[in-house]
Amino acid sequence: MPSEPLRRQSSSCRGLEEISVVSARMASIHESTTLKISAMAKKLTASGLDIIDMGVGEPDFDTPKSIVDAGCESIRKGETHYSPTAGIPELRKAIAEKLVRENSLRVTADDVTVTPGAKMAVFAAVQALLQEGDECVLIGPSWVSYEPCVAFSGARVAWGKVDENFMSSDLAASINSRTKLILVNSPSNPTGAVFNNAVLREISDLAIDHNLFVISDEIYEKIIYDNLHISIGSFPGMEERTVTINGFSKAYAMTGWRLGYLTGPKETMKWVNRLLSHSVSQATTFVQRAGVAALAGPQDEVASMVAEFRARRDLLVSGLRDMGIPCSIPGGAFYVFPNVSALGGGDAFTDRLLKEAQIAATPGSAFGPGGVDYVRLSYATSQIRIAQALERIEKLVK
Ligand code: PMP
Ligand code: GLU
Repeated sequence: MPSEPLRRQSSSCRGLEEISVVSARMASIHESTTLKISAMAKKLTASGLDIIDMGVGEPDFDTPKSIVDAGCESIRKGETHYSPTAGIPELRKAIAEKLVRENSLRVTADDVTVTPGAKMAVFAAVQALLQEGDECVLIGPSWVSYEPCVAFSGARVAWGKVDENFMSSDLAASINSRTKLILVNSPSNPTGAVFNNAVLREISDLAIDHNLFVISDEIYEKIIYDNLHISIGSFPGMEERTVTINGFSKAYAMTGWRLGYLTGPKETMKWVNRLLSHSVSQATTFVQRAGVAALAGPQDEVASMVAEFRARRDLLVSGLRDMGIPCSIPGGAFYVFPNVSALGGGDAFTDRLLKEAQIAATPGSAFGPGGVDYVRLSYATSQIRIAQALERIEKLVK
């Protein structure tokens, strides 16, 4: 929060009355570090520098052609008008069927709301569930936008502990009478950790015992290497207390299309829809048609993206380990989160990576206090670039 309230002078002709430029609620949130680094990397590249961008978490593949075609066809057909806030019926139905088939959730199209990106789904669900005085548990280093969403609601974050593999540990210690919500993100951004059945069971037991809600952000569901993805909302007793969020950005390389969705208890969804109706109105109509094509079409491009991500992960992890940089093997997503405490800590090392090796990365501190010893490297870049990055890092740490 700024130390001094930002002020401007009123243009009123009756005296120079001072009014605050920014509301206290807005001042509680900071800029997205990931998007800031992404913009900076693009700017440096445009200036002629050979920047290896391992900063932003965005698949470097193109959106599959069948999806692009469906979006284009929809525009040409004139589907350029408003559609219902919760989404077009065809997409809501396709999503509900996917959630039943793949995630064992008991939902129908009426329970699904489509959003312009999963980020908006997270924001809306958090605003619907939390208020001043509440606490929300984030489990270890967590995606940059969760804490600002919680702060915007007026609630505060309590940080849950994780072990050396970023698995939730002793979660009960972060729960108290103010706790209302636990946010689960498996596979995790930034750690790549995938919560197994036992960990998810422990979280669901705590949620039921303490009468808490859970938001399960499953956007990296498809980018998973060794385990099966499990949706906590499918556990007994969790249906009425879980909001499940997912989207098309990562699985179908559709970041710029802005398409996500959520489902949850009816009462929560009622308020989510109300908030969306007064803010974004709806996700773009023809983009929703592309979403229908993504879910209905062949999934082989997803599988080949995942195979390529796995090869990159293995290359990066083994390269870092060969240099003596401790790094756990991520089970999902497309980030490695090595411990650089012996190299000056996350902030200083990220700085050196950019200035001395021209590698854009994200400091672990952007993901909360548990991240300060770490740096996040996104491997959503080619194996050639990863090999070059490893050479540059080796020179830096020698
Ligand atoms: N959740 C997590 C954990 C993410 O990393 C992202 C990436 N932007 C999102 C949600 C939001 O994705 P989008 O808004 O692009 O659907
Ligand atoms: N989720 C991605 C990341 O963490 C994209 C940027 C963002 O939305 O924060 O880099």
